[in-house]
Amino acid sequence: MKFQDKVCIVTGAASGIGKEIALTFAREGGQVAIADLQQGAAQACANEITQSGCTAMAVAMDVTSEAQVHAAVAQVVAAYGGVDVLVSNAGIQTVHPLEEFPFADWKKLLAIHLDGAFLTTRACLPHMRFAGKGGSIIYMGSVHSKEASKLKSAYVTAKHGLIGLCKTVAKEGAEHGIRANVICPGFVRTPLVDKQIPEQAKALGISEEEVIQKVMLRETVDGEFTTVQDVAQVALLFASFGSNALTGQSLVVSHGWFMQ
Ligand code: NAD
Repeated sequence: MKFQDKVCIVTGAASGIGKEIALTFAREGGQVAIADLQQGAAQACANEITQSGCTAMAVAMDVTSEAQVHAAVAQVVAAYGGVDVLVSNAGIQTVHPLEEFPFADWKKLLAIHLDGAFLTTRACLPHMRFAGKGGSIIYMGSVHSKEASKLKSAYVTAKHGLIGLCKTVAKEGAEHGIRANVICPGFVRTPLVDKQIPEQAKALGISEEEVIQKVMLRETVDGEFTTVQDVAQVALLFASFGSNALTGQSLVVSHGWFMQ
């Protein structure tokens, strides 16, 4: 039980990758806060965890709202007594050619990924510091933290930006035993990816099957999607690592799509 009594906040945990991380952390003994915009789905995820005998709560959080982030973190601290692990995972995808990218869409995407990571980090750091037990902050990057693809200018920009934030948090947090790392998954079949398959097919003028085979999986070593479980295991590694030896890093989990 690597997480016995560890308090973990996972943003975007009502769905996809975040949900699997929440389930995994709870199985390991963590007390997990499911922080998401979708309150019904967040509550359902928390119920699923508590019904299995583990500990979880749902908290309403729009990661782009300073007030909501602070209120939600305070709610978790009041319920569980602190914060040991933050997984800044909430995210969206929007695809357009750069010349046609609506400014409002650009700003929304950057706000969710970058403002959200900043605000949640800033809200959790003091609790990790005051408790004197250190902590682990994990950012959900992407292969697009390392690599670019057509149509994804905002996403690629945001995901690269998270690496800069992570490295800074690793340096500022080190004296308090607070580590920061980035997980960089390849394509994972979640609602975020299912939504972009028809969008990319339309934008590129190819079929949906061609998007999967020729765009998403072409560069992998085995033509396979990464799974939510694969990503959750990497999150567990980062969250449970015991020293500052593993900090400021970004780990790609992508079936070899991107090799460092
Ligand atoms: P998903 O759509 O299944 O889940 C995203 C969750 O984020 C949803 O529950 C949604 O309600 C929540 N969310 C969105 N905006 C929010 C906001 N403002 N405040 C709070 N919650 C918000 O997507 P997913 O694929 O699980 O993606 C999770 C993370 O993983 C994202 O950061 C994404 O960029 C990243 N990622 C996904 C893939 C992939 O292939 N699916 C690959 C690499 C990285």
